[in-house]
Amino acid sequence: MASEKLVITNIGQILSGKLEQPILDADTIIAIDGKISAIGKSKDLDLDQANVMVNAHGTTVTPGLIDSHVHPVIGDYTPRQQQLNWIDSCLHGGVTTMISAGEVHAPGRPKDIVGLKAMATASQRWYENFRPSGVKMLAGAPVIEDGMVESDFKELADAGVKLLGEVGLGSVKAGETAAQMVKWARKYGIQSTIHTGGPSIPGSGLIDKDVVLEADADIIGHINGGHTALPDDQITCLCESCSRGIEIVHNGNERAGLLAMRTAFEIEQAERVILGTDAPAGSGVQPLGILRMVAMLSSLGDIPPEIAFCFATGNTARMRDLDTGIVEVGRSADFVIMDIAQHAPGKTMLESVHQGNLPGVGMTIIDGIVRTGRSRNTPPATQLPEILSTG
Ligand SMILES: [Zn+2]
Repeated sequence: MASEKLVITNIGQILSGKLEQPILDADTIIAIDGKISAIGKSKDLDLDQANVMVNAHGTTVTPGLIDSHVHPVIGDYTPRQQQLNWIDSCLHGGVTTMISAGEVHAPGRPKDIVGLKAMATASQRWYENFRPSGVKMLAGAPVIEDGMVESDFKELADAGVKLLGEVGLGSVKAGETAAQMVKWARKYGIQSTIHTGGPSIPGSGLIDKDVVLEADADIIGHINGGHTALPDDQITCLCESCSRGIEIVHNGNERAGLLAMRTAFEIEQAERVILGTDAPAGSGVQPLGILRMVAMLSSLGDIPPEIAFCFATGNTARMRDLDTGIVEVGRSADFVIMDIAQHAPGKTMLESVHQGNLPGVGMTIIDGIVRTGRSRNTPPATQLPEILSTG
């Protein structure tokens, strides 16, 4: 079988997604069969026999953005706000991978143990079998309930479940019980996230810092609340007292998000900061939510924008062991091509983001395949990439 070759040339700059080297000195990326095979200067690389050649026209290539916290239910429909094609809309905001924090909005969601295991397995399958608009939706994230035993977690893992939904959204709200179940999950390779802060909607409850620390889930889910944040001293304490993921979400308290990020820098653990939207939620679906978080943290938090992009790409990939999110040979060829938005202040895309503006998305690519051209949702990019030839 002939291999599929994608070549992106004339790149102005590449954001790598890696905190230790956020900008790469290269103008060309080659991907074969959906994986990055070379990054460098065009004169040094073999550009021949590309099936698809993209001229980036001097724009910026970033890794596909990762939303670390979403609540999908089925396909590209959410009952939360009765909305269709919300995932496709987020792809137009540069998001190529989404991670479920529980399919909690399923009408009639089973809360008995047999039912919740069946739903998690089915959700994992239907998103593995059907990617809306090509977006990688990692789902099948059961919400743990009182009465679950170790064999339930083994059974889930054997069935292909790799995530727990937000701990605390079900009946398990005591730190001790949560800690036991998180440990069982981890033993069988299932990653966990805990709900942090006040109740999200009627029916959910408060999870404070003591429960979060005792439960010891892999990710401190929405440390800035979803939407109600914990008091400031509890947020800094969570950052300082454990080494788990510091997840900041759009559907949260922005001031608390800035506090969490600044604390992570103070303790020199910026690699723990990851971003999500928590959409769909009471605040709706935010197709540009991840880009807005990057611009908000970079501008109000005054950090280099290329670092803020790492929170939405490489940091999440590393924390969650994904093969995307970093522009590196061998990883998935998932990219966003973006440029400074038309009439935005600042000389460059990064400068405009540092001033709090969104970039314009010109193209998205997943697994080496062009998925969208000019975004229908971002402000228009000044310069657009162009497909030169297809074979
Ligand atoms: Zn939550």
